[in-house]
Amino acid sequence: MDPEKEKVKREIERLRREINRHDYLYYVLAQPEISDYEYDMLMKRLEELEQQYPEFITPDSPTQRVSGVPTKEFPVVQHRKPMLSLSNTYNEEEIRDFDRRVRSLLRPGEKYEYVCELKIDGVAMSLLYEDGVLVRAATRGDGEQGDDVTNNVKTIRSIPLRLETEDPVLRNIEVRGEIYFYRKDLVKLNEERLENGEPPFANPRNAAAGSLKLQDPRLVAKRPLKMFCYWIEPLSDERYLKTHYHGLKTLEQLRFPVNPHYRLCQNIEEVIAYWSEWQQKRDTLPYDIDGVVVKLNDLEQQERLGATAKSPRWAIAFKFKAEQVETRLKEIVWQVGRTGVVTPVAILEPVQILGTTVSRATLHNVEEIQRLDVRPGDYVLLEKGGDVIPKIVRVIKEKRPKDLPPYQPPTTCPVCGSPLVKHPGEVALRCENVACPEQVARRVEHFASRRAMDIEGLGEKVVDLLFREKLISDYGDLYYLKAKQLASLERMGEKSAANLIEAIERSKQQPLERLIFALGIPFVGEGAARLLAEKFQSLDALMNASVEEIASIEGIGEKTAVSIRKFFDNPSNRQVIEKLRRAGVRFQQEEEAVQLDERFAGKTFVFTGALSRFTRDEAAELVRQRGGKVSNSVSRKTDYVVVGEDPGSKYQKALQLGVTILNEEEFVRMLEGK
Ligand code: NAD
Repeated sequence: MDPEKEKVKREIERLRREINRHDYLYYVLAQPEISDYEYDMLMKRLEELEQQYPEFITPDSPTQRVSGVPTKEFPVVQHRKPMLSLSNTYNEEEIRDFDRRVRSLLRPGEKYEYVCELKIDGVAMSLLYEDGVLVRAATRGDGEQGDDVTNNVKTIRSIPLRLETEDPVLRNIEVRGEIYFYRKDLVKLNEERLENGEPPFANPRNAAAGSLKLQDPRLVAKRPLKMFCYWIEPLSDERYLKTHYHGLKTLEQLRFPVNPHYRLCQNIEEVIAYWSEWQQKRDTLPYDIDGVVVKLNDLEQQERLGATAKSPRWAIAFKFKAEQVETRLKEIVWQVGRTGVVTPVAILEPVQILGTTVSRATLHNVEEIQRLDVRPGDYVLLEKGGDVIPKIVRVIKEKRPKDLPPYQPPTTCPVCGSPLVKHPGEVALRCENVACPEQVARRVEHFASRRAMDIEGLGEKVVDLLFREKLISDYGDLYYLKAKQLASLERMGEKSAANLIEAIERSKQQPLERLIFALGIPFVGEGAARLLAEKFQSLDALMNASVEEIASIEGIGEKTAVSIRKFFDNPSNRQVIEKLRRAGVRFQQEEEAVQLDERFAGKTFVFTGALSRFTRDEAAELVRQRGGKVSNSVSRKTDYVVVGEDPGSKYQKALQLGVTILNEEEFVRMLEGK
């Protein structure tokens, strides 16, 4: 091979390796390192080289297939028809090329129209309806095969599970569309993820994909997923609908959610006008779009043009370029969250980008700062586009002032001065001082939040005010506030004070799972809280459970179990919990569960050795039903140690400490009230 060709071959191989790596980061880990634009430019370069040197095209080249993978966790299903990708372009010239290509593939002089739609930044989904009933929902996967995520998709409220139509043709259809997130919901989800030491989602598409991969549909139900449908095909009669436009109207009639901003365009100039209009207006939408999709309207013409292995020839994605601007990084400040996770925020010289003034950008964590090698005083390139929050893409190294020292992340908490810690396997830095004033305030805010105790009127501002006025020092104090105290606060009249007191009072009756979530135990999200409430039925039982007992719950890992134990072993947390108890906050799963028995009430039992009549869990439950507590270790606070066959070291400990020892017989008699 001549050296020139050899060089091209090497470049092709390098590009393929590079693209495969970014595919993995994007589709599998949902953590892309480069922007979509940069990715598309790599792909474009590869396509160009392969076009010039077709002898180097291999069937496994990323240009030859739809990226993505079905995951192992779900049943894999075959698509009726491949779910393809879209070829894309970022400029007017190429969109005119596309139009010329379309014209050349049609008959000379043949009339044609386009439909333009918004390109929603989410994940593609196929829905199958048989006899009017949703029977299957599948992800795109590699285009041929996807994941069957029916149960997860059924949690999305806007998707009809049953069709109202009597038309037999329309009762059996396949519908395709995009599952996506509202921008504000994604911001919130990412905040929660950062709190838990999890990496944030880079864009709505990753968040949607990540949510659909969750194994528990109940957790999916809590993620506010949405869908827009853009394709319909009757299973029995593929020619029933004549145009794409007609398809969209039919979807609307069948009550599918359809994005309302589609438009019929008579020529490519109208298409370009639509694109530039939405490029300007994209920020007015509550969800992110990354371009517009242009489709040939007539379905028969679509069929004649057909598709390559990767994308249809009758459609193209006309993407928006993410806008990039230059600005200067003034400083990096560190924000403390309720679990002690400390996150860096870039404070920037204010700049205009896509019509808004930006002066802050998140930097996520120390690793991100190191990856960018960004230092206060640097000039940086800021990007806002497909991404929700503006982000720093890179440092303009050429402009770096001389002698700017590398950035040193803080070693102590900016609020309370405690040392910051990084746990193995985690990216986040944490302030481990549970009494850190900022953490405490954010915990109260979390406690009162909508998905926790749902105390209306107790947001960030009011919480900060209560702290400033020293009316509370933790969330346990909320229940002892008086209307009079509140009414005298800034911007708080008598009426809102009374409302707040009432909302606090009402929250006492929240179900146990909400209470557990509200406590703000690191790693215990809503899903874990629900599992814990189901298993333990009362807060006391959870408080006394061992790490092993907690970790034995399906869906709760060792790390979470250890974190729970640590939380309840902390005396100051116990104190706060006792404030809640005294105030009458509900600690039980169901109210009628406890029939207090004075011999058991408030007493702590420890079991050791095997019992013949009950399992350990059953015995523990009997104690709890009578108002007693069960613990796993013997201490001076233990009231009774029940000893079965083959007791362990707890028996020795009990003897040592002089704790009352019961054998099984005696325990049973006590249960029977004798
Ligand atoms: P794509 O996202 O560019 O376009 C195809 C998809 O658009 C469809 O599958 C569908 O899900 C969606 N879509 C949204 N609205 C639509 C509408 N109204 N009509 C039809 N489809 C609509 O292509 P893709 O194959 O899903 O993803 C490849 C793209 O992902 C790349 O071009 C690149 O931008 C990005 N990517 C980025 C990285 C990275 O590292 N940044 C890595 C891999 C891929």
